[in-house]
Amino acid sequence: MQFRTSYKGLASAISFLAISSCGSQVSAPQASGPLSLTGFPQGTVWPCEGYYHALKAEQRECLRIPSTGSELHPAIDVLIELRDFSPSQTVKVKEAIYEFGLHWEAMRAESSSPNDSSFARCLDANVNNRMWPTVSSFPEEHRNKRAAIFWAVLNIQYIFEYHARNKIPLVIAGTSREGIMGEAYSGSDGENTANGDLRLAYSPLDDARYTSLMFAGTLMHEWFHRKGYDHPDTGYEDTEYLASLTVAAGSCVRSRNVPGIMLTGPALLDE
Ligand SMILES: [Zn+2]
Repeated sequence: MQFRTSYKGLASAISFLAISSCGSQVSAPQASGPLSLTGFPQGTVWPCEGYYHALKAEQRECLRIPSTGSELHPAIDVLIELRDFSPSQTVKVKEAIYEFGLHWEAMRAESSSPNDSSFARCLDANVNNRMWPTVSSFPEEHRNKRAAIFWAVLNIQYIFEYHARNKIPLVIAGTSREGIMGEAYSGSDGENTANGDLRLAYSPLDDARYTSLMFAGTLMHEWFHRKGYDHPDTGYEDTEYLASLTVAAGSCVRSRNVPGIMLTGPALLDE
């Protein structure tokens, strides 16, 4: 069953790769309709309004994910529950989600093909190992670096779509574990039920040297773990670790897609 669901996504991914080299899709302009009595256009859709929840404003954030340009992947909202954070930690986590959203939105705005985005070029320039999940549903015979980057982006999209389709909040929780930026359970790739739940660590959240942009990279990193991607069990001093897709993706977020210029600030902790 799992394979059949995945296969649908695979088939469209593979066919997209075959035809995507000259796309010119841009997002359609929003028609500005008549204003309602509240001053907002009629038909205004509020962030994450489709979710049923009892979360207070300080316990939630709404991540808006633009359409990929394909009707298969419309614009969606992901309601994120922030669990067990102090007020100041909450601010940093919300900023990290915002920074992540900017990065993702820029990728979609640049091109209808994620392969032609700055993020993809950053991955292409920096990745040389673990380009696929350890166990992947993507067929061996179609694997190459371009397909790997396309599949990687699609897999993160699948996480967001799982939450949006099922109206299940994605949970970002806090952890007191020392020596890490964040952590997440390893999941599997394809269009499945792997959620995007992860934890961020209190110590670096409380340390001003670790910025919200650094944590935006941690979000990307942990979400790749949720889709089955891995890296060597070493650390940032190991070039192979740096060049694994999961780690490089986080670095691309943190450096706004130019990792070479980001070598300031404290050493990143394990992720
Ligand atoms: Zn990791």
